[in-house]
Amino acid sequence: MSKIKFTVLGCSGAYPTPDNACSGYLAESNKAKILVDCGSGIFQKLIKKVDIGFIDAIVLSHLHGDHMADMIVLGYALQMLGLPKVKLYIPDKPEAESFILKSAKSFDVVAIREGERYQAGDITLEFAQMKHKVMTYAVKMKTSESVIVYSGDTEYTPVLGKFAKWCDLLVCDAAFNNETYQKGLPHASAKQAAEMAKEAGAAKLMLTHFLPHISTENHLVEAKSEFKYTTLAKPDLTIKI
Ligand SMILES: [Zn+2]
Repeated sequence: MSKIKFTVLGCSGAYPTPDNACSGYLAESNKAKILVDCGSGIFQKLIKKVDIGFIDAIVLSHLHGDHMADMIVLGYALQMLGLPKVKLYIPDKPEAESFILKSAKSFDVVAIREGERYQAGDITLEFAQMKHKVMTYAVKMKTSESVIVYSGDTEYTPVLGKFAKWCDLLVCDAAFNNETYQKGLPHASAKQAAEMAKEAGAAKLMLTHFLPHISTENHLVEAKSEFKYTTLAKPDLTIKI
């Protein structure tokens, strides 16, 4: 029996702010610690929470800089401290970025395959492809007691609702609000995130990936008009599910 402790290390989209790193989350059960995304600023946040020698796996939803920039320095740290390779799950495209990670000596790289199940301690990982500018996967983290789904970056897609069916927590891209959202943008709005949570029948929704130049003042109200059990991600926020 194992619940998952989910911690927001950073949730700023595109670039970090003085108080918020880019995307990075820590999922911890009794038997596993998984780093999910590792954008700019995450390395410092990560080492405040956990000894990097105890990380069982790293998942990158996609290979945009705001989700992977600090992988380079994390790789240096693992190497210089003489720590063993860490299992790293990534989309295999774009090729240039995936080549950099595959060439690093610190990672045992696994190209994500939809429909496959992977194991990190007592957490089972599954993936579904989302709609974004580059190949992007949502990840499902499941133990005997908990199911958490993180969307990565995505515009609205009915795939997420199906993939996240009956999850305990959906952590979803909500870069825009009603005023700033336009059709064709590669991210969801707060309201669309709430619609996807409703379609999933999720117990809770956490909105994330906020763009520094777009106010999040109305995000919660807009999402709650569709889905009551919504919270906003913020640095160091921890939920045990
Ligand atoms: Zn992206």
